[in-house]
Amino acid sequence: MHQLPSLEDLGPLQDRSVLVRVDFNVPRTADGLIADDLRIRAALPTLRWLQRKGAAVTACTHLGRPQSRPDPRHSVDPVRQRLAELAPGVELLENLRFDPGETADDPALVERFVERLVAGHDAYVNDAFGASHRAHASIVGPPQRLPSAAGRLLAREVEVLGGLRDSSRRPFVAVLGGAKVSDKLGVIDALIQMVDSLVIGGAMCFTFLKARGNRVGASLCEDSMVERCRQLLDGSTPIHLPYDLTALGPGGVLGDPNAGGDVRQVGADVPDGWMGTDIGPGSAAEFGDVIYEAGTVLWNGPMGVFEDPRFGGGTGAVAAAMAETRAFTVVGGGDSAAAARHFGVDREMDHVSTGGGASLELIEKGDLPGLAALRRGNATGDEGDKEGRADAT
Ligand code: AMP
Repeated sequence: MHQLPSLEDLGPLQDRSVLVRVDFNVPRTADGLIADDLRIRAALPTLRWLQRKGAAVTACTHLGRPQSRPDPRHSVDPVRQRLAELAPGVELLENLRFDPGETADDPALVERFVERLVAGHDAYVNDAFGASHRAHASIVGPPQRLPSAAGRLLAREVEVLGGLRDSSRRPFVAVLGGAKVSDKLGVIDALIQMVDSLVIGGAMCFTFLKARGNRVGASLCEDSMVERCRQLLDGSTPIHLPYDLTALGPGGVLGDPNAGGDVRQVGADVPDGWMGTDIGPGSAAEFGDVIYEAGTVLWNGPMGVFEDPRFGGGTGAVAAAMAETRAFTVVGGGDSAAAARHFGVDREMDHVSTGGGASLELIEKGDLPGLAALRRGNATGDEGDKEGRADAT
């Protein structure tokens, strides 16, 4: 299902010009400087491989959310400078989202933009996993016009995340946290078919706890999701919920220990006016045991408000168990990748995804628009009918 054309399928690249869609949408400081260059470094294997084969390499990316017109606050200049240090000789186009064609719905606008983008290039590589869940012009357009391939990063993400469905290293456990059940319901529905058990922490555990009949006090809870959570709890896949919690008392402020408000351990019922802000130490130990005994672990979402040191214990315990278990460990992107880095365990993981939304959508649906575009482009290429390919656009 995930047969994607690889870099090797592009054939000889000496003196050819290759356009590479990357995801250099890096976190930036208030002054627009690069706060973390991980996304740039993640694309280096592909960029350097293409250069070693003799190709002239042009990269392109989006950065931030400019309103479809040039905006100096979202210029790629700082990224270009860092790229010049890491991969000298690789060109970088200006922010793709400066052009309305990148995100447009109007096919004529999209078409004109893609024409301009591919002009002068002989091949296209998609290494932008974090953007491949969006059917934007630079993701789905070029494979219809140029011989195309998946870059190394994209291929690895698909191999690991796509492969979870058929994971043979059992038990397969998914550890889910983060803010909202509603954001992750699609992926929960998919995972419940694949895993041997689910472990649920973070704010989303309160909707499940309420569904089980516990009191949630002032914790975040999505009442509209309670019935759905009850159905999931009644299903055949075991769901581990915390049996103790850390809670913040009335008057307390998240992120501000000096604001007052008591912090204490409670059971699975949160007193009125108190807010559950982390799983408790007993549950953290139990979740750790489930992770130690697993064959495969997928972790997505923090167990509590880990940005506030008073409520980082549960996430830290899960991170430590992830680092120590012999299981194959996969961390979904976004906040969980940030949490793994925060607790210094990111290098101990078998795979840390570079895509937040993209990783969840790939697990949920088994495919992404960017991957389908590469496979379709490749199928057209196999017919060896170049004109047909151009017509198909
Ligand atoms: P998500 O983006 O859905 O993965 O959510 C991540 C955010 O959820 C983090 O910023 C956490 O601070 C927050 N979070 C985790 N647990 C809780 C909780 N018990 N109450 C409020 N926020 C939480």
